[in-house]
Amino acid sequence: MKAIKNNSPVREKNKIKIRLILFLCCFFIFLTSLIISLKSKKLFLEKSPEIHNFILLSIDDLRADRLGCYGNKRNVSPCIDSLAHQGIRFLYAFSPWPFTPPAHSSLLTSLYPSIFDLPLDPKIKTLASILHENGYKTAAFTSSGWMSKGYGILNGFKEIDDRIIGLPNLEKKIVRWLNSNRDKKFFLFLHTYYVHVPFVAPEKYFLEFADHTYSGPIENTAESTNKFLEEANEGRISVKPEDRQRLLDIYDGQIKAVDGFVCSLFAHLTRLQIEDKTMFIITSDHGEQFYEHKYFGHSSPEHPFADISTRVPLIIYCPALSTKEKVIDRLVELIDLPPTILEAAKIKIPETFQGKSFFPLLRKKYNLLLKKKKQVFFQTNRFAGFRTRKLKLVLDFHSGEKKLYDLVNDPAETKDISQIISGKKLKSLIDKLRVFQEKNDILREKLGLTEVVLEEGLPSSSLPFDGNSIFLAPLDDNSFIYKTENYIKKENFDEKQLNFVEGKFGKGLLLIPKAEFRIPFKTALSSNSGAIEFWLKLNKEASLTQKIFNLDFMEKDSSLSIQGTIYWLWTTKDNKRGVIEIIKKPYQKETQKFSTLFSWKEWHHILISWENEEIFLLIDGNLSSRQNFFTRDFFEDKLINYIKIDGENCVIDDLRVSNKSRLSIIRKKKLKLDNEVIERLKALGYIDSKN
Ligand SMILES: [Zn+2]
Repeated sequence: MKAIKNNSPVREKNKIKIRLILFLCCFFIFLTSLIISLKSKKLFLEKSPEIHNFILLSIDDLRADRLGCYGNKRNVSPCIDSLAHQGIRFLYAFSPWPFTPPAHSSLLTSLYPSIFDLPLDPKIKTLASILHENGYKTAAFTSSGWMSKGYGILNGFKEIDDRIIGLPNLEKKIVRWLNSNRDKKFFLFLHTYYVHVPFVAPEKYFLEFADHTYSGPIENTAESTNKFLEEANEGRISVKPEDRQRLLDIYDGQIKAVDGFVCSLFAHLTRLQIEDKTMFIITSDHGEQFYEHKYFGHSSPEHPFADISTRVPLIIYCPALSTKEKVIDRLVELIDLPPTILEAAKIKIPETFQGKSFFPLLRKKYNLLLKKKKQVFFQTNRFAGFRTRKLKLVLDFHSGEKKLYDLVNDPAETKDISQIISGKKLKSLIDKLRVFQEKNDILREKLGLTEVVLEEGLPSSSLPFDGNSIFLAPLDDNSFIYKTENYIKKENFDEKQLNFVEGKFGKGLLLIPKAEFRIPFKTALSSNSGAIEFWLKLNKEASLTQKIFNLDFMEKDSSLSIQGTIYWLWTTKDNKRGVIEIIKKPYQKETQKFSTLFSWKEWHHILISWENEEIFLLIDGNLSSRQNFFTRDFFEDKLINYIKIDGENCVIDDLRVSNKSRLSIIRKKKLKLDNEVIERLKALGYIDSKN
């Protein structure tokens, strides 16, 4: 009976109370530890690994799907494939712009290309500059062209060799450097054009992949492949499937050569016993189109952001992470690499970086809290776009044309579906792009990249620049002149900034990398008629692509830029293919491109003239091109503050800017033009033949 008494309702109540309190205590402890874990984001992570060194290898122009580990059935990349199998491979890594300079700038600054201009402003923080500040040795070994110092892409690296041609030389350089820096923390950036045009493979690899029954025009020489690409792109020949395959055979042979280089590089890391503390990253700046969209090149006018152009390999091998055979199918961008490397190095990531670290994905177990990227963005001077897992939108700023691709049902991106989806849906996609661009504009301003600092000593008021005005920079007596109908103003240059050499008419200005020259030019130019002209001589033959001259007409917050670039790939004996590009900044939405031929050591007269709706380019009096005008006016009647001139290995003489198209006032013969040029202009009907 007592026992029954012991189980009185009061005792039962107390028991339940105690159990409840115990349960609540346990639950509270569990909840607190969960919150702490979530806050520190370490719930699913192992101990932080020790990574001392970072080697970033950019194999320029390497299209992801040509590597074995990305689906090429041929044995093109055994070494890279083996690193991928022992490490981490990203299936969907993208370049923001399939073009070497902006893509590499994004890769090394974590900024989208519309944020910066080239050369890169030294005030932009780069991955290299941050690692250097944190005690890392930083070195960049690149192979010239766009990857030279002058473009600012290598800002922040303390040691640079930007003239390394060929893989054996690159390997020698690396070995020497590693031998003396193996005990230090370092960031080594390596770049090669080995799989880039001109397509020509080492003979043994060419023979391994080539079809020996092929009877078409393509041989395994730079001359032959260049000629074929040029003629195909200009629509002068038809491209057969076997020609396309021939070029891919050569391309695969080039990849195999680079793969051999990666093998040797690894042997050195192992020999030096630094492999275990190194994060080795292999990627590229863009892919390459092999006529899938009727064009050979990094990208095509038809489809500038096709996956074959923008999707890049991304392989990370890092023994310290003990992560093996991991394949990641999330979307990532080249701009995500700098924050990832900084997180791996336990360095604070700057707020201005636009990329997001994917370091947690590299660990053995994912951090499940890491947000997935919904889309990756693309941009060029003329196009903008983005890609999700399912869709890709491409917008052409010139024509306003929109294209939309269904990547699930049409992975080769052959059908534009923008016309068959609802207008509302299309608008919402375009709005996404607009928001992206607005954010970029805000960041650009925040980074101080939109403001142009005025030089001291500018004329205090703007000069009246009317229809009869002319601005002359003859250079021979260190002066520039503004001439209007009733007014002449002459000012001297600061001679210290100049590199004078013999010009066409006395002194000429030698343009050398890194040096820039500014002429104060405080005047507003009329938009509907005008001309810019100068004489140009190419002093030194370039081995690679180079920007020969750049004239920037700087307004307070925007500018018009006229750039001349020589493309090294289209070489004939005395001429090289060049492009003169007229770019409206800051949005770079308006660009006109003229393709032309330049020869060496000869003076060229360059005349860029605009009249109403049309723009003309005349080289030596030959009409190189005549195109429709920008959608916005040439100068928009804004105040031009100065003209900035820079370039590489060429001489400029007798720069003139006038407010009338030279084509109509040339007969006044105020200019020192050759009679021959005038005769050509007459023959072309651009000036009155009576004068
Ligand atoms: Zn490139």
